[in-house]
Amino acid sequence: MKSNVVVGILALQGAFAEHGQMLDKLHVEHFEIRQKRDLDRKFDALILPGGESTVMGKLLCELDLMEPLREKIQSEMPVFGTCAGLILLAKEIEGENPYLGTMNIRVKRNAYGRQLGSFHTENVLKGIGAIPMTFIRAPYIEEVLEGAEALAEVDGKIVAARQGKQLVTAFHPELDEDTRVHEYFLSMVGLK
Ligand code: GLN
Repeated sequence: MKSNVVVGILALQGAFAEHGQMLDKLHVEHFEIRQKRDLDRKFDALILPGGESTVMGKLLCELDLMEPLREKIQSEMPVFGTCAGLILLAKEIEGENPYLGTMNIRVKRNAYGRQLGSFHTENVLKGIGAIPMTFIRAPYIEEVLEGAEALAEVDGKIVAARQGKQLVTAFHPELDEDTRVHEYFLSMVGLK
């Protein structure tokens, strides 16, 4: 895949490097967003990685990144949130206050309990087909609210969703070899 699209990857904490490696495989230009002045660069899409949503949320506030990123997403910049990134985008988080709150989903953090803290499975993602899914202390989506659509379920729990140009997965496609979820996201960015 060739393009002149540039993707900004939030790189405050967590599994951001792996998203960069995925984009390298797809020959898509990317850079890391670590502070406010990084937002001065021109970019077409945003990735919010997995990690710890509470830590990332705190850093987003402290570094004055919360509001500018929210504005970009609200003005339809395509965004892909994995795991903690999904939590950052959710409008409702069970028992907690939202962070960016741009996506109409209600989520539950650390939803699989201790026994199933991490697991790997394969399941269908609508629009792609069967894909590998790696979960690490993952949330799940309890409910997709107005305008959001569930794209995948595992054991009756929603684990991927889309609303306009916002895409979220409770699992980590960047940790598997399969590049199709990233390609799906890039197709939302309007890659020819
Ligand atoms: N449990 C983490 C959180 O609540 C998410 C885990 C992950 O991103 N792998 O933020």
